[in-house]
Amino acid sequence: RRDGGHAADRTSKLVVLAGPTAVGKGAVSTYIREHHPDVLLSVSATTRSPRPGEIDGVNYYFVSDEEFDRLESSGAMLETATVHNAYRYGTPRAPIDAALAQGKSVLLEIDLQGARAVRRAMPEAILIFLLPPSWEELVRRLVGRGTEDAAEQARRLDTAKTELAAADEFDYRVVNTEVSRAAQEVVDLMSISADDNKES
Ligand code: 5GP
Repeated sequence: RRDGGHAADRTSKLVVLAGPTAVGKGAVSTYIREHHPDVLLSVSATTRSPRPGEIDGVNYYFVSDEEFDRLESSGAMLETATVHNAYRYGTPRAPIDAALAQGKSVLLEIDLQGARAVRRAMPEAILIFLLPPSWEELVRRLVGRGTEDAAEQARRLDTAKTELAAADEFDYRVVNTEVSRAAQEVVDLMSISADDNKES
């Protein structure tokens, strides 16, 4: 093994879940957090404001631009990205290193740029792309959740088109027809890959 590591390394995995806007990454991650407490769901930092119901330290660490700069320049972030040309997001490195060292698997729910950056930083990471059942269904989910105005929806759908084209770069693709089933598929892939049979 590349790290010549201890026994825990054999089962702890870094898994990245990416996919276009409104495909249901948040719902799938939340389902895994509730049903698989053995998996650490990484909490990102972001400069956007909390939406109703979001809790600081649970959904995100909500930080100012200055605080984000400080975290980034001190090397505390595994990756950072500006998403949908608006706010900044980043993955704190320390909790991930700690969990992996303890033999826990870690799930990152991040965008495509983040997935690519993690692949470069940690080539052993497993990349999973969440797909909608169809383009029409993706549009329906985005419009249906009603958290973005029309201009923002158009911008996100534009990004989504580009992102869908990148699905082939990922190790696995999971179609999110039903959240509990998609979540189970992700968890199954984590344990299949824990047998160390991932090809690259
Ligand atoms: P939202 O603002 O809707 O919660 O998230 C917008 C986008 O940012 C989503 O695609 C989400 O996956 C992505 N995102 C959340 N946290 C991170 C992160 O730490 N790094 C990156 N690269 N993207 C993130």
